[in-house]
Amino acid sequence: MIRFVDVLLKDIFEMGRDFPWKRPDRCPCCSNWKVWGHGFVGAIFNGFSSIIWLKRYRCPACGCVLRLRPVSHFSRFQSSKHTIRSALMHRINTGKWPKGSCKSRQRHWLYNLKRQMKAYLSWQTGLAEAFDLLVNQGKTPVSSSF
Ligand SMILES: [Zn+2]
Repeated sequence: MIRFVDVLLKDIFEMGRDFPWKRPDRCPCCSNWKVWGHGFVGAIFNGFSSIIWLKRYRCPACGCVLRLRPVSHFSRFQSSKHTIRSALMHRINTGKWPKGSCKSRQRHWLYNLKRQMKAYLSWQTGLAEAFDLLVNQGKTPVSSSF
């Protein structure tokens, strides 16, 4: 289970495994009162030159493993939500992708956004609005999976 926490990627990058992660108060699966540290998982993020170590916790009661992730990023995406959103807005508003960015990756974001919109939004809406609506529903608007 992924748990999004309000942390700065830059701080985690600089402090490495010494970063003071805040232990979850209880297990989100079974509400057990305590979860234990369960090592780290390395992740790659755009804009950082090496692996960033993200903390894991495990519940001794139900075995649920919690992976903490910065709220600034969607699950399984290396670019921040802000980067993805502003690239898409640029494309939607100007018809072009931002200069100096990876176009094939961005085309996937747009393609997936259209698919997510069709799958989850039953009413007619603009792409920009759809992005925010899907985020508010807790979804990843540019994900290829449903
Ligand atoms: Zn549990």
